[in-house]
Amino acid sequence: MGFILQNIEIEVVKGDIADQPDVEAVVNAANAELAPGGGVAGAIHKAAGPALYKECRSLAPIKPGQAVITKAYKLPNNYVIHCLGPVYGKDQPESEFLASCYRNSIQLAEGKKIATIAFPAISTGIFGYPTDLAVEVVFNTLLATLSEIENIKKIKFVLFSEEDLQLYQTKLKKISIG
Ligand code: ADP
Repeated sequence: MGFILQNIEIEVVKGDIADQPDVEAVVNAANAELAPGGGVAGAIHKAAGPALYKECRSLAPIKPGQAVITKAYKLPNNYVIHCLGPVYGKDQPESEFLASCYRNSIQLAEGKKIATIAFPAISTGIFGYPTDLAVEVVFNTLLATLSEIENIKKIKFVLFSEEDLQLYQTKLKKISIG
C-alpha cells in the first residue's frame, strides 16, 4: 500500500528489512552495543557480513533514541542507520524516545542526501512496545518532521507480520482521508 504525503511516497509492506534492494538506507532496530543479536539486528548483520559489526564497534554504545549511520557492506543498500529504541516499561517516556529514533534517523538520512529509506517497527519486538501504540508515534513524528525533509523522496515501512501490516495500513488510510 502506498500514499503520497507532501511529495514523499509512503509505502507500507510486509517483508524482511534485510531484503529491500529498492532503498538506499535501511534502519536497524539496534541494541546499545550495535551487536548482531536477534530480530532485525540479527537479520541485518547476517546479511551485511562481519565487516558491519567491525564498523559498529567503533560507534557503540548508543543511548535510547540515538541513531548512527554506517555503510551497508553486503546488504543491497548504501547505508544502515542504527537506532536504539526504548525498552517498553523501562526507558520512559517511551513515546519520546521512540519519536527521537525516527526523527534522528530521518535527520541522518537527510545529512547524507539519502532519497529512499526503509524502517522496521522499532522497539515492537524484544523491547515490547505494543505496535498499535508505536504506530501512532511513528506517523505523528513523520508528520511533524515533514517540513524538515528535503532529500528523502520515499519512506518504506517494512513489517514482519500480517497483524502489524494491517495496523500500519489502517493508520495510513486514516491519514490519507485527513
Ligand atoms: P526491538 O529490540 O527494537 O524490539 P526487534 O528486532 O526485536 O527490535 O523487533 C522489531 C520489530 O521488527 C518486531 O515487530 C519484529 O517482529 C520485526 N522483525 C523481526 N525481524 C525482522 C526482519 N528481518 N525484517 C523486518 N522486521 C522484522
